Amino acid sequence: MENKKDIYHPVKENFEKAVISSMDEYHALYAESIENNEAFWDKQAKQMLRWQHDFEEVSNCDLEEGMISWFLGGKLNACENCVDRHARNNGDKIALIWEADEPGQEKRISYKELLREVSRLANVLRHHGIRKGDRVALYMPMIPEAVYAMLACARIGAVHSVVFAGFSAEALRDRINNAKCKAVITANEGVRGKRVIPLKRIVDEAVMACPSIQHVFVAERTANKVPFYEPRDVWLNRAMEAERPYCPIEHMDSEDTLFLLYTSGSTGQPKGLAHTTAGYLLFAALTQKYVFDIQPDDVYACVADIGWVTGHTYVVYGPLLNGGTTVIFESVPGYPDAGRYWEMVERLKISQFYTAPTAIRAIQREGDAYVKKYDRSSLRVLGTVGEPINPDTWRWYHDVVGEGRCSIVDTWWQTETGGILISPLPAATPTKPGSATLPFFGIEPVLLSPEGQEVHGNGVSGLLAIKKPWPGMARTIQGDHQRFLTTYLTDYKGYYLTGDGAMRDNDGYYWLTGRVDDVMNVSGHRIGSAEIEGALVSHPYCAEAAVVGFPHDIKGEGIFAYVIMHEDEDSGTDLVGELRNEVRRRIGPIATPDRIIIAPGLPKTRSGKIMRRILRKIAANQTDDMGDISTLADPGIVEKLIELRNAK
Ligand code: ATP
Ligand code: MG
Repeated sequence: MENKKDIYHPVKENFEKAVISSMDEYHALYAESIENNEAFWDKQAKQMLRWQHDFEEVSNCDLEEGMISWFLGGKLNACENCVDRHARNNGDKIALIWEADEPGQEKRISYKELLREVSRLANVLRHHGIRKGDRVALYMPMIPEAVYAMLACARIGAVHSVVFAGFSAEALRDRINNAKCKAVITANEGVRGKRVIPLKRIVDEAVMACPSIQHVFVAERTANKVPFYEPRDVWLNRAMEAERPYCPIEHMDSEDTLFLLYTSGSTGQPKGLAHTTAGYLLFAALTQKYVFDIQPDDVYACVADIGWVTGHTYVVYGPLLNGGTTVIFESVPGYPDAGRYWEMVERLKISQFYTAPTAIRAIQREGDAYVKKYDRSSLRVLGTVGEPINPDTWRWYHDVVGEGRCSIVDTWWQTETGGILISPLPAATPTKPGSATLPFFGIEPVLLSPEGQEVHGNGVSGLLAIKKPWPGMARTIQGDHQRFLTTYLTDYKGYYLTGDGAMRDNDGYYWLTGRVDDVMNVSGHRIGSAEIEGALVSHPYCAEAAVVGFPHDIKGEGIFAYVIMHEDEDSGTDLVGELRNEVRRRIGPIATPDRIIIAPGLPKTRSGKIMRRILRKIAANQTDDMGDISTLADPGIVEKLIELRNAK
């Protein structure tokens, strides 16, 4: 995998005033952050955040016990940290650039304006009975109101739970009910690549079975009419106009929950991870500053959706905590054509650009001309996140998009980690295509053997775990702390278990080798096999289903479903079509299987567990080496499945 010549050094002229400009600086600060861990975080917390009341204790953590708390006794407000302090000191600076679906229709919002809009929205929420500790679901397109809504919740101490606005009514309903949200904030419709998405209708369908919902706030993104049910429904923009442009700030404890965010949920119910105020904010602010080398005049663009954690930490909180200018991208990478990102880079003079490998792969396929057509001289840092980036695409990103001049930051992290844990620093770290390189300050990664022993030295592989708690880590799973413990903390005591495998090469660089669990990554969207299996078996004809990913040129991973029908059902109907529709309806179009096979059985162990590694091999057509299949209850099933796969 490694090739000595394949090392890329930062281009120094690009980084004259970098926050960390050499490996010596990195190593020194890293050593300090590990050896004097509490002192490091104490100092950073005082420097990076504004406190209403100082904290009394830096941390009180015991990973074995699942006790994680930081900056105890402190009081602060996330919205004040993101908005008010910059509105006061530098109010005319642009906080948000809204990059609307149609290129050239962007809108700029200064910190002063952001404070007014967020305050108005916060007042609307208060006047409709939303109080500190209440949960509010967001089902929003990428419009400024989405950011106002997140910050408004934070301002009044309400907990936001953003649900990706591509999920179905049923998925939205489950998430609302799990958190007992009191209100939903949405828009009449969303627009992406000219396509109109009926958000309000989906919300209407979802909340029919959500007894906790008292209000639905509706922003107007389009001029189209939608059903409207007063007094439950409230037109958001009109209500905001009626409010004063200042809203008092709630005092929050460091450990009060700032937001809930659901992962894809590989084992059934999605996990609603809870992040708290001080620790999350500090980690967001610090990683943003160092990994993206934020400078005062930068225009920073992370094109992730706020429905994912990347959108939380690196579209909203990280950039705003640093007083930066952040782009809110409403469109899709291929609209109006594959040059969209670079046309936007030229027009907005973007300095840091952050996206996922799946998007880069998709536009790489369209050819270099779409990139070269536009002036990218404003760019310094190109980021990637979400899955391992294949070296070929990495080099294309570096050589073609970045003209060999920009630093690539391949950032490894998770919803649970709150922010980036392993990544290069753009002006310091020599990079290797495909490696996330080295740990961030305060982060101590280890590789564990399956028995739980630390694998020391370099040139080794294992389960990636983190040894020391860090402020940005999730504190619990909404409503199920036991599941939090068993998922991350109890299998290997004293560590946070990531669920990913990794290799540490001879230079101590980390290479992520994939997940140990069963989540698929389809076009950058995380989809749990179990959720799709659940949708399939809800069809009356379907008895059992097993879903795995397989390599897909464009999507990164495609979805392959093996379905067992009930014995005596008539197969004359278009069962495959019906099953596809069932998944679309229950989860959303992104979860639709690419291939469905009606199978006579599944490869199971004698204890009844499906052997997914076999299903993966069959799906990927890698059936030469099936590995050990001797523990299968019925080894004959493997041949039958291979035959079915190769049919037609
Ligand atoms: P769930 O926890 O429900 O299974 P998920 O893990 O799919 O959801 P995320 O938290 O969004 O949801 O994704 C984190 C995962 O994405 C990591 O554990 C890792 O597998 C993958 N990942 C993220 N960034 C990188 C990267 N730079 N290189 C390799 N893999 C990455
Ligand atoms: Mg995960």
